[in-house]
Amino acid sequence: MLTLTANDVRLGARATDWQDALTQAAQDLEQAGRTATAYRDGMMARERQSSTVLGNGIAIPHGTPESREAVLATGIRLLQFPDGVTWHDGARVHVLVAIAAQSDEHLEILRHLTRVLDKPGLAGKLARATDAEELVALLSKAPAVAKCDSETLCLGVDATTPNELALVAAARLQSLHCVDTEFLASIIGQPLVELGQGFWLTHHTVGARRPTLSLATPKRTSPGLRGVFCLAGHGDECHDLLDRMDHFLASGEPIDGLNAEAVLARLSGEAADAVTARVTLLNTHGLHARPAKQLVQEARRHNAAIRIRLQEGDGSAVSATSLTRVIGLGARRGQTLLLSATGDEARQAIHALTRAIEDGLGETVSPLRQAEQPSAEPQAQPAEPLADDQPVKAVAASPGLALAPAFVMRQPVLDYSASAADGEHEIQRLNRALDDSDGQLRSLIRQAEGGEAAPILSVHVEMLQDEDLYQAALEAINEGGSAEAGWWQAIDTAARAQEALADRLLAERAADLRDVGRRVLANLCGVAMPTPPDTPYVLVADDLGPSDVARLDTTRVRGLVTARGGATSHSAILARALGLPAVVGAGERILTVADGANLVVDGERGCIVPNPGPERCEKIRRRLQQLDDLQAQAHDRRHQPATTRDGHTIEVCANLGNTAHTPDAVDRGADGVGLLRTEFIFMAHPEAPDLATQVREYRHAFDALNGLPLVARTLDVGGDKPLDYWPLPQEDNPFLGMRGIRLSLTRPDILETQVRALLTAAGDRPLRIMFPMVKDVEEFRAARAIVSRVQAEVAASDVQVGVMIEVPSCALLASTLAPEVDFFSVGTNDLTQYTLAIDRGHGQLSAESDGLHPSVLRLIRMTVEAAHAHDRWVGVCGELASDPQAIPVLVGLEVDELSVTSRRVPLVKACIRGLSLENARRQAEAALSLATAAEVRDALEAW
Ligand code: PEP
Ligand code: MG
Repeated sequence: MLTLTANDVRLGARATDWQDALTQAAQDLEQAGRTATAYRDGMMARERQSSTVLGNGIAIPHGTPESREAVLATGIRLLQFPDGVTWHDGARVHVLVAIAAQSDEHLEILRHLTRVLDKPGLAGKLARATDAEELVALLSKAPAVAKCDSETLCLGVDATTPNELALVAAARLQSLHCVDTEFLASIIGQPLVELGQGFWLTHHTVGARRPTLSLATPKRTSPGLRGVFCLAGHGDECHDLLDRMDHFLASGEPIDGLNAEAVLARLSGEAADAVTARVTLLNTHGLHARPAKQLVQEARRHNAAIRIRLQEGDGSAVSATSLTRVIGLGARRGQTLLLSATGDEARQAIHALTRAIEDGLGETVSPLRQAEQPSAEPQAQPAEPLADDQPVKAVAASPGLALAPAFVMRQPVLDYSASAADGEHEIQRLNRALDDSDGQLRSLIRQAEGGEAAPILSVHVEMLQDEDLYQAALEAINEGGSAEAGWWQAIDTAARAQEALADRLLAERAADLRDVGRRVLANLCGVAMPTPPDTPYVLVADDLGPSDVARLDTTRVRGLVTARGGATSHSAILARALGLPAVVGAGERILTVADGANLVVDGERGCIVPNPGPERCEKIRRRLQQLDDLQAQAHDRRHQPATTRDGHTIEVCANLGNTAHTPDAVDRGADGVGLLRTEFIFMAHPEAPDLATQVREYRHAFDALNGLPLVARTLDVGGDKPLDYWPLPQEDNPFLGMRGIRLSLTRPDILETQVRALLTAAGDRPLRIMFPMVKDVEEFRAARAIVSRVQAEVAASDVQVGVMIEVPSCALLASTLAPEVDFFSVGTNDLTQYTLAIDRGHGQLSAESDGLHPSVLRLIRMTVEAAHAHDRWVGVCGELASDPQAIPVLVGLEVDELSVTSRRVPLVKACIRGLSLENARRQAEAALSLATAAEVRDALEAW
C-alpha cells in the first residue's frame, strides 16, 4: 500500500535545475532501497513523454512501465524545495512526490493528490512547511466525499406537507448510512427554511456521517410545495452540495415530470438546453493523467463550456478543461462519462470529445466484454426467490454431494457513528479490538494447525500488525473519526489499492484485507459473528472469507454454497482441502433461500436444488447412502493395492503440501507421496530455510512413510506462487515467465541446498526428485547436474531423478527426455493451462480448462509411450488424477501411478478396482478420437 508518512520526507532540499531535482529524487529512492540506479533513466524518460507536474507546486516523478524492472520494492519519497524549482514545462515546483511502483499503485496516490490540489495557497504552504508531519498532512487531508445521486432522490412521494417530505428525505439518508438516528431526531420539529419557488431546506450537522444532499418531491406539486432538500454535513464539506442546490434553483425549470436523470443533470449545473452525450470509458487503467490530458486539450479547442460527470460517481460535474478535476473524477474502465456543453461550439465540442474518448484518448482500447458491462439497472433490485425443486447451475468448486437444511450467513449490520470526540479513547478501543482479533485468530490457527487454513490465517495476523494500516486508521481517528470509521477507512483504502493491481494474486489479498477488517469492526461494535446451528447444515453465504471457512465446524457443515467467487477462490480451495462439497458463484438469488430450507449441493455437477421435492430427496438420500457405502468399503480396503479386475496394478499416492500430513496420507492407504510441493517450507519462513531446517522437514515425511517412496518436487515458485523474499520483476505474463526450474536455475545455491537436504534426509530410503516446469532436455540436464554434484558428496542409495510434464514441449519431446530421466510425472494443471492457453486461475474461463480435453490426453499418451519404450514409469499428479471420469482414461493410457489429495486415495483405489484394463483402454481410445472436452465427458458419461 502506498501511503505518505513523515519518514518518507526530506525537507529543505535545493536544486540547480529540474534535472538536478529529479536526480536527487531518484537517489533518495535508491538510498531507501526502493530502486536500482537505472530507475533515474526511467524517470527521465517519463518526463520526456509528458510533464508529471500536477499543479499547485506538486510534481509526481515516476518511471515508465519499461523501467519497473529497476524497482526493488514499492515506495515513495517526498522532497521539499522551499525555493522552488522551475520544471521543464515552466511550472514552479515545491514538492516532488517521487514514486517507485511495480504496477499502477501511483494512480491511487495521484487520485489522492488531485483532491487536495484545490486547497487555496497550497503551493505556498508546501514551500513554507518546516515539519515533515505538516507536509504530509497538507498532502493527505482529503475532503470527505459528498453524496448526491440517484440513491438520494425521493421523487413523487405520497406526502402533502414540507415536514413529511423532510422526514422522507432524512429517512432515505439514514437508510443509506449517511446519517444516523440522531440526525433524524434533530431535524424533527426544526423549522424548515423556505428557498422560494416552492422549495424548502432542512439541514443539520448532528449525526451526519458524510456530507449528503437528498431531495424529496411530492406526488402532486403546488406552487407552495415543489420539493424539500435535506442536507447533512458540516460547514466546508457542504459547499459543493450547496452549489448543486443553487444550480438547481437557478435553472428555474419546473420539477414536474422530470425524471431522476434530469433532476441529477440540473443539480450538476447542466443547463436545460445543453448539448449532452454519454460515453463509456474503455481505457484499461481508467482516466489517468495521460488520457485525461488529451481530453482536456480536446475540450480547450472549442468555444464551449463543457462539463463532465460520472454516472457512477457522486453526481458532481467538473469542467472538462481542468486537468486535475478530470483526473479527480477517478473514472475507471467501463464507467460512463456524461458530457454536457453550452456555447457556440457546443455541438462540435461534444461530437469531438465523444469520438476522442471512444478512440481511447491516445491509448489503444478494446470494447468491453460481457462480464465488464455495467448492469443496465443502476439500482439493485431485490432478488427474486428461487423456485422450489429446480436445479440452479453454478460453478463446481469441491466434489461431493450434500442434502441438509440451509444456514444463510448474513453479514451482521455493524452500526456505528462516523465521528467521535475523544480520540484517545477511540485509539484505546481500536487497540483493544485489534488485540481481541489477534487472540481470536491465533486460537483459530491453533485449531487449524497443520491444515490449509492455518497459513492464510497467519497472513491475517500479519495484516493486523501492518504498521501502515494502523497509522492510516490513527490518522483518521485523529481527524475526528470514530475507531470504527477510522479502521474501516484504512482497510477500504488498502483493499481498493490492492484490487486495482493487475496482479491477480495480489488483488485477491483485498478479500483477505476486508475479511480481517470486518473481524476488527465486529469486535469494535461488540457484535458477534453469525453463529451456525448445532445440527447439520449447508452454509450459504454471499462470499466466504478464508477465516469464515476455517471457523467452520466440519462435524456439522455438510456443504458450502456462495453467491459469488470462482473455483480458484481461497474458500473453494479450503473447501476442497476440508473435503466439503461446494458450489460457488450461484448468484445473489441464492441468498433468498430461507434459513432451515432443505438444500441439495452437488459439488460434482456444480448445481444446487432449493427445497427439493420428496422424489428428489429420496433419490439424493439413496445416492448419499451408496456413496457412504462406497466410502466405507473403500476405507476398509484402503491398504490393499489398486488392482484392476484383470490384474493390472496402479500405484495410488498422495499429494502433500506439508510434511506434517504424511502420517494421515499413510493412514488413508497411500502407496507413497506422489508429489510433495516443497514450496510450503519456503513459504513458511521469512527467508530461504537453511539446510538443517529442510533436513528436519523432509525427515518427518520419510519417517512417517516407513519405506514407501517420496516424490519431492524441487522448489516451484513464480507464476501464481510468489515468495516474499524472492522478489521477481513485474512480468506481463508471469505464467510464461520466471517460474519453476527456470527460476531455480538462476539461484543454483538454493537448489543445491534443497537437493542436499533431500538426499541427507533420505539416506537409504526411496527418494524421487523431480523438477517443475521443465521445457526440454537442456533444462533437465542443468538441474540434473546439480543433483549429480551433490550425490557425489551425500550418499543416498535409492534415488531417481525425473521431470514433471507440464509444458507441452516436454510431452512432444518426451522421447528425447526418456533416455535420460528415471520417470515422468504429468502435472495436468499446468499442462492443461499451457495446452489450451487458459490461465488456470481465470475467473470465467477456468471451467473450460478441462484436463480431459483430447489435446491434453494425446500429450499424456505421447509421454507414456516414450517412457515405456525406455522402461521408465509415468505418474499423473495434477487434479485430473482425482476426477472419477478421468481415472478410467488415465488407466487406459497406461500411466503407472496416480497421485491425488490424501482424502481421495481410498476412493481412487476403489474406482480402479472396479475397472478392467481392457475396458479402460477402449475408453481412452474413444476419448482420444474426439474433438472437445465436452464430447469426451459426454462419451464417458454414456459409457
Ligand atoms: C500441476 O501443474 O498439475 C501440478 C501438480 O503442479 P501445481 O498444481 O503445484 O502447479
Ligand atoms: Mg504445476
